[in-house]
Amino acid sequence: MEVRTRFAPSPTGYMHLGGMRTALYTYLFTRKYGGKFVLRIEDTDQARYVEGATEVIYRTLRDIGLTWDEGPDVGGAYGPYIQSARKDMYLPYAKQLVEQGKAYYCFCTNEALEARRAAAAERGETFKYDKHCLNIPREEAERRIAAGEPYVIRQNVPTSGEASFDDVIFGHIAVDCAELDDMILIKADGMPTYNFANVIDDHTMGITHVLRGSEYLSSTPKYNLLYEAFGWEKPVYIHLTNIMRDATHKLSKRTGDAYYEDYISKGYLMEAIRNYVALLGWNPGDEREFFTMDELIEAFSLEGLSKSPAIFDVNKLTWMNAEYIRRLSGEAFTQHALPYYAQAGIAGMDHAVLARILQPRTETFAQIPEMVDFLAKLDEDYSVELFTNKKSKTNPDVARDVLCAVLPALSALPDWTEEAIHDLLIGMAAERGLKNGTLLWPVRIALAGKQVTPGGAIEIAVLLGREEALRRLALGLSKLG
Ligand code: GLU
Repeated sequence: MEVRTRFAPSPTGYMHLGGMRTALYTYLFTRKYGGKFVLRIEDTDQARYVEGATEVIYRTLRDIGLTWDEGPDVGGAYGPYIQSARKDMYLPYAKQLVEQGKAYYCFCTNEALEARRAAAAERGETFKYDKHCLNIPREEAERRIAAGEPYVIRQNVPTSGEASFDDVIFGHIAVDCAELDDMILIKADGMPTYNFANVIDDHTMGITHVLRGSEYLSSTPKYNLLYEAFGWEKPVYIHLTNIMRDATHKLSKRTGDAYYEDYISKGYLMEAIRNYVALLGWNPGDEREFFTMDELIEAFSLEGLSKSPAIFDVNKLTWMNAEYIRRLSGEAFTQHALPYYAQAGIAGMDHAVLARILQPRTETFAQIPEMVDFLAKLDEDYSVELFTNKKSKTNPDVARDVLCAVLPALSALPDWTEEAIHDLLIGMAAERGLKNGTLLWPVRIALAGKQVTPGGAIEIAVLLGREEALRRLALGLSKLG
């Protein structure tokens, strides 16, 4: 049997990390078994339609390296792949169930339903559709429809017995039919409900395995009544546990940690996010933590999926991101860092030197502006106490002597290159019998106005350029009196 899977996002305008993980696992599973991966856009809920949201889905999936074999943009034999474009396909299936007595036309108005819901609430009961229209004779129903009366089609759920299915992760899931509502299959506007379209599409697209979030676990038995009503074979269900912020909270839009885009804009690399998300709820069965896409395909298995919710640990992601950043080439680092250099006002500085000092310490690109703030602008009010450092054996007096000697020597330097600055400063330290650190510490403090900086005195001097470096050194000297 050929494996056919689908990722079926609703176009919301964002990619939730949970959705991204579902897409990734579905893709890995499919590629592993040489199957077909289908992209289906579930946009039956037109009220929630977000302009441009489908493009966001394409872009994000491509970004994370997923390719689909069938989908709205690439076509395929089971199309169309956007539910709104399939809308005429659903009604005949609903009518087929009506023929079989497994569904019926319902004419209850919203007002009537509201009144019955309110009455139920008053009795302290939760309202469940009361099969009010079930016994309307078919000819009468058809006459009313022909006369233009609004209607929906409801599933005729058995009043007793059990609806159940077996999930690969969660095992046997059963619900009492008595607890189920006669759910609407076709809405008054002629559109299918989300659940109905989902079932019809999975079947008509030949989907063999459904991977999706565990929020659908409880509605799946209800769907399965439809499979039984049609006499169709059910796909294999694999529900994935939630991704949680902590033991009790899901990742949420409100806390700004739920979406793939949130992390990209916080300066995380796609590769690190993908790698980390792959490990949220799946483990390879060994100690490995770093995976390329090919390695993920090779290592992925349903047996490695976890049953308990995954806790999203941003520190772990950040650690992993730093590791991915360190593995970038200098040029690739610069490509990613450029927008942040621009933001910090240092885009014109030497990129190779910036990459050399920043790459080893950057955990997320968004940290860059803060790390380099002193390059763009010196905080001139820094305290002269910064010149004191026990280990380098310096204090404001030593610093004054050092800067007094260094400033004219640097001013006279013909080439403002790293090599020339290095040779000059290291040569001066040797000449004066000073430790390199004793000479370089005051220079760096004067150049940066702070004690902790990425890069040393020489690198900072090159980045600042002659004029600004000399200006800062002169300022340092004047502060020291
Ligand atoms: N359209 C659903 C969503 O965006 C997916 C449901 C499914 O995979 O069956 O969450």
